[in-house]
Amino acid sequence: MFGTGLLKGLGVTLKHALDTFEDDRESVPDRYRGSLELGNNRRVIQQPIDQEGLLTIQYPEEKRLLPERFRYIPMLIWDSEKQEDRCTACGICAKVCPPQCIWIVRDSDENGKPVTRCSEFYIDAAVCMSCSFCVEFCPFDAIKMNHDYELAVYDRYPQLVYDMEELTVPLEYYAALWPTQYEEEQARRKEEEEQKRKQEEEKAARAAARAAAKSAAAATDSSAAQAAPKRSAAELQALAKERAAQRQAQAADAGGGDDDAAAAKKARMEELKRRAQERARQRKEESGR
Ligand code: SF4
Ligand code: SF4
Repeated sequence: MFGTGLLKGLGVTLKHALDTFEDDRESVPDRYRGSLELGNNRRVIQQPIDQEGLLTIQYPEEKRLLPERFRYIPMLIWDSEKQEDRCTACGICAKVCPPQCIWIVRDSDENGKPVTRCSEFYIDAAVCMSCSFCVEFCPFDAIKMNHDYELAVYDRYPQLVYDMEELTVPLEYYAALWPTQYEEEQARRKEEEEQKRKQEEEKAARAAARAAAKSAAAATDSSAAQAAPKRSAAELQALAKERAAQRQAQAADAGGGDDDAAAAKKARMEELKRRAQERARQRKEESGR
């Protein structure tokens, strides 16, 4: 029906007005219940979770407490525990950044060899669209989203092009802005480090076992070599001659044996022949009688 959308919208507005009136009435005299005093009449106001009305604040003296997942411009993490930048200059964030507003220069050692740290890191805050892709893709938890949204300047360039010094914050700052995510991340990093340590220990143990087996094999070889010392050329010649003579003697022995066997066979044949002749003679005599 014509006008129902309009009536619905007005209903929502009326509900917000009534909720706000009710919240204001309940919060008197403590309008700043749950707020954080910053001094000098400045405070951060946290709207209680049970309030549904709109909260009017006196910005910039008063500010809303931002939710943990609020994001604006990225920041680089300085690992205070390890006393080093977490960024390894891998360049993944610069590759995935949709508007291409990250610029990284990898550092190098005294020999000109590239190392895993940045010498320069820039983000053009005027171009950054706060998408958080760089944070999602960073494999080293080195870049996170900052909550600082008061970036107004008179000159866009170069004031909105942040360098490494302006972007870098200590780990504790990140922990204060993102407490839940920080806790989860620390637990995961600890687990990964423990796994890495175990893998390295296993690798070292395997290498030690291989080295021990190799040295044992080398010791066996050397003792075998000691048990059979090398002979001189003259000794080897003499040994070869001796072996040849032995072989000849064995062959001669084997040949004599053959003669004996042949002689025995011949004698046996002669005997059989003699017996056959004897039997033939006897048969002849018997038939002649
Ligand atoms: S911030 Fe992360 S993704 Fe970007 S260069 Fe550094 S380590 Fe790589
Ligand atoms: S938040 Fe998005 S736009 Fe901004 S630097 Fe990261 S990837 Fe680029």
